[in-house]
Amino acid sequence: MPEVLERVAPNRVVQNTPAEHAPATLPEPKAERHPLGPLKVVHAFWLSGMSCDGCSISVLGATDPTVESLINGRVAGMPRVDLHHCVLSVDVGEDFIHSYLLAERGELGAPYVVIYEGSIADERIAAATGGYFSAMGTEKLGKDENGDEINRPIPTAEWLARLAPGAAAVIAIGTCATWGGIPAAAGNPTGSMSLMDFLGRDYRSVFGLPIINIPGCSPVGDNFTETVAMVLLFLQGIAPLPEFDDLGRPAWLFNDTVHQRCVRAGFYEEGTFAKEYGDKECLVEIGCWGPVVQCNITSRGAINHMGGCMNTGGICIGCTMPGFPDTFSPFYKKPPGTILSSNASRAYGSVIRRLRRITQEFGNQEVRWNWKGETPSGWGDHAKPTFLRRGIHYFYEAWQQSGSTPPGRKGDDSKFWGAKRPDAAKPVYKGRVTSFRGDEDKNK
Ligand code: SF4
Repeated sequence: MPEVLERVAPNRVVQNTPAEHAPATLPEPKAERHPLGPLKVVHAFWLSGMSCDGCSISVLGATDPTVESLINGRVAGMPRVDLHHCVLSVDVGEDFIHSYLLAERGELGAPYVVIYEGSIADERIAAATGGYFSAMGTEKLGKDENGDEINRPIPTAEWLARLAPGAAAVIAIGTCATWGGIPAAAGNPTGSMSLMDFLGRDYRSVFGLPIINIPGCSPVGDNFTETVAMVLLFLQGIAPLPEFDDLGRPAWLFNDTVHQRCVRAGFYEEGTFAKEYGDKECLVEIGCWGPVVQCNITSRGAINHMGGCMNTGGICIGCTMPGFPDTFSPFYKKPPGTILSSNASRAYGSVIRRLRRITQEFGNQEVRWNWKGETPSGWGDHAKPTFLRRGIHYFYEAWQQSGSTPPGRKGDDSKFWGAKRPDAAKPVYKGRVTSFRGDEDKNK
């Protein structure tokens, strides 16, 4: 074993591969087991690598379910979650690390899941100069010649290698942990990589689960807590394993693109586009990548079903995707594909949009207003449909009602007015729906 690797993970199985960023440690294979409920407690060991802690912040804002309800066991059918988080836990120092050591030794007395936030740096690079990138806790290596203790910081990557083989599930949260993210962007000096790259494609938890990936920078907190809840119900043995896609993403959250659920998609379809930030229309021509990015931010919102990139005027920069950030840079520049797609929408939308405005105009007409020839609104002059538009709408409505019975009243309809019909012998527009059957008879 090379000395550098020994210093990172002296007791670990090391696989030497020619790959530049080969993982320093690999999990030992474990036999698959099936879920065995009921479970009272499941421990959650949170580890942070090359991270800004944004994932922790977003999870704390989750509402369905909340972190508090998971911790307090208030979600029906679910075990209580005992969260071990270096910022949120009350225990500190050796007391805090103690549970991690128990889990590694298999002495915890309850199943556990591992959650990793941030990408995993290649600790061999830091170890070459006697340092480390991300560490939590220390272990004693012995004493130096002066009798002083030598302590070694334990890289979080090593904690992952120690705990993953015995975990009920391993969850990567955030784009750094799921795909590598910003720390793994082209030119990164740390050799940063994702959990999948670190543990390898053959990794399986003791319950037979590959790594679960909840991407996003930062991810939607509810995407995480909801997935945790569903996995725990599976581990309880009272729900099926939820559907994950071929990259380990919760399929029901990440199958659709941002664009398919975007609040601005109607503008795109009608070919109207924002020219600058603050405009209400589709943002594709000022740099939005939503049409190709798998994310539910527009339908889920950022926190408590509120906010979220396009909902609040921001473009999609592809932060949930494995190619982020390199594939989607430079940010705030029109994606090349828009030359074809948005111009096609513009051509098609300019026609469709005008036709829809005609139908919308008649949708804004009430039957009584037609007969009276005026709209009783004190807010302004409600424009009357032009002759051409009335003609177009006549045929549209005839087509709409073909094969069905149009609404309306047969016979003398004066009783429906409560008294004599208002003096407006001529309707402004006398179409099939907006006229009365009795009047058709009278007008004969
Ligand atoms: Fe699609 Fe982006 Fe436009 Fe929304 S703003 S409709 S995601 S291109």
